[in-house]
Amino acid sequence: MIDQPTIQRIHDASEIIDVISDYVTLKRRGANHLGLCPFHNEKTPSFTVSGAKGIYKCFGCGKGGNAVNFIMDIEHLTYPDALKHLAKKYHIEVKEAEQTQEQIDFATERESLMIVSDFAQKFFTKTLFEHKEGRAIGFSYLHDHRGISDALIEKFQLGYSPDQKDALTKEAQENGYKLEYLVKTGLTVQKETWTADRFSSRVIFPIHNVSGRVIAFGGRTLKTDKNIAKYLNSPESEIYSKSKILYGLFFAKKTIIQKDKCYLVEGYTDVISMHQASVENVVASSGTSLTVEQIRQIKRFTNNLTILYDGDFAGIKASLRGINLVLEEGMDVKVLLFPDGEDPDSYSRKLSSSEFLSFIEKNETDFITFKTRLLAEDSKNDPIKKVQLITDIVESVAMIPDTIRRSVYIKECSTIMDISEDILLSEVNKRRRKSAQKDKEEREKTEATENAEAIKKTISSPNIIRETQFEVEEQEIIRLLLNYGEKILVKEINEATNEEIEITTAAYIIREILKDELELTIPRYKKIFDEFQQLIMDNQSYSQKHFVNHEDNEITNTAADILSKVYPLSKIHAAGGVFIELEEMKLERIVPKTIIEYKNKVILSRMKDVFAQMLKAQETGDKVLFEELQQSYIAFTELKKQLSELLGGRIIV
Ligand code: ATP
Ligand code: MN
Repeated sequence: MIDQPTIQRIHDASEIIDVISDYVTLKRRGANHLGLCPFHNEKTPSFTVSGAKGIYKCFGCGKGGNAVNFIMDIEHLTYPDALKHLAKKYHIEVKEAEQTQEQIDFATERESLMIVSDFAQKFFTKTLFEHKEGRAIGFSYLHDHRGISDALIEKFQLGYSPDQKDALTKEAQENGYKLEYLVKTGLTVQKETWTADRFSSRVIFPIHNVSGRVIAFGGRTLKTDKNIAKYLNSPESEIYSKSKILYGLFFAKKTIIQKDKCYLVEGYTDVISMHQASVENVVASSGTSLTVEQIRQIKRFTNNLTILYDGDFAGIKASLRGINLVLEEGMDVKVLLFPDGEDPDSYSRKLSSSEFLSFIEKNETDFITFKTRLLAEDSKNDPIKKVQLITDIVESVAMIPDTIRRSVYIKECSTIMDISEDILLSEVNKRRRKSAQKDKEEREKTEATENAEAIKKTISSPNIIRETQFEVEEQEIIRLLLNYGEKILVKEINEATNEEIEITTAAYIIREILKDELELTIPRYKKIFDEFQQLIMDNQSYSQKHFVNHEDNEITNTAADILSKVYPLSKIHAAGGVFIELEEMKLERIVPKTIIEYKNKVILSRMKDVFAQMLKAQETGDKVLFEELQQSYIAFTELKKQLSELLGGRIIV
């Protein structure tokens, strides 16, 4: 348990723009910041962050909340773990009691897998630095043979797994880690009759997620036996999905944002060598070709990607196709080719750091130009290949979402390939029409299934309609509470003391609702309402911040949801021009009207219920019950009449 003052300190320190900027590139847009939502795939930004209110809200997928909720969602953490995560970021010391066995058992499976991965990383690093075998074999390989500095070995948390069957598995189990999690992370291989370390006798490259936690490993053997795979990687697990992770992103993201550019290389050693040459905005896709998910990860930080290739022609040709995906995401792709037989790792060690830097700055070429030149060379005197080339280039250009960029490329390609611009343009447009048609069909298909599902759901659970029948009104009540709760609404004379007292909006609303013994029906709104009531009774402040930073997730999410909605302001015309009449100036009218409308609707619904019961009582011949019901029906009718009069304009506060 983290104590309340510490929680408050963490909330206060966690400036939401700063927290979210670690994951999303935000641009200022009016009073808010805007970026691409990290929770769903989108091409135009609808992820909105309000620094002043301390909340975020995605108008695309609906996710929203405060800084802590954001961390919970993006890191898949529990509330206390998200707090600890932020405490670490802001150097706030968290004092807490030792975890009880119950708490350890209760840690989510994801968390357990991360905890055991963390233990393994420490074990490997310790072995590398402190054990005889680790130093003699692992450390000397990294340090002497590969030329990686001590600082970088530590930064990337490199390690060594000893040449023993189950050194890690044993050590971990002796320290209380469960075999189940060792197996699930792939650190331990379990067969029917034996268990063994997956990575034994390998140099270890831990793989970090975007927030720096170890989620998987790559291991390189130092043996020259051709039958042993040079690199071995963790299998997919609940915390590691190969297609989503980019090696080095955690260490690169700050610089990627700063330089507004990301370099993509092949593997672990390339990333580390680039760091050694002071290029820190670099990630690797670890052996596989880029996936859409990986591209979107990069796109969260920059739109500019430069792919570094070693000078192997067959390899380059094979990977060209994958780059269309990057173009399709609207990114600017450049390519950098290393001299024959060199990769970023080998080449950066051949040159001085400044020579290397100027090499990568001078030699990057725009992707389409690069591809056209490369293939044009290849198809010089071969008409069939030339047709193929045109199809290829047209396909790439057609992927680019931006019209102006497309036309620039068409011009350039027409020069390189010596083909008329018109032909290229009409081919590109043909392709775009085709894929637009396909997109449309797919969209319609998903929409149709979604609709069918929604209808099915409504039919199978008629309660949904009942539960949400007061959604609009109750939400409005909560919105007024959150926005203006502390504002003075009216002044009244206390009859007993004859003193003037000020009634806040919250006090007024709560009094009005309780007076008629009403209760909000929607649980998440009732929760906030009840909390207001409690705070007022306890004479405590009930600011917006209290709800936005609440420890109950449902409260913060609901508050964020409501506070991020945009409400139209009405304008009034005055002699000098147009004034905007702020809602705040009209509270005296809006608040009572909202309450009356709500009560009106509640009464209508109760009348319906009573009427239905009356019908039943008549059927069963229960005269007494029928008369009772009839009485209350009449009472409701009277109440309704009064409310209607109030609503009709003669509103009395
Ligand atoms: P060498 O010292 O022989 O050059 P290396 O360790 O540099 O070996 P390369 O064969 O040059 O490895 O491969 C370059 C990069 O590609 C490595 O940094 C590694 O991260 C990555 N890589 C190669 N094979 C795999 C694999 N099977 N899985 C994941 N990554 C791989
Ligand atoms: Mn190499």
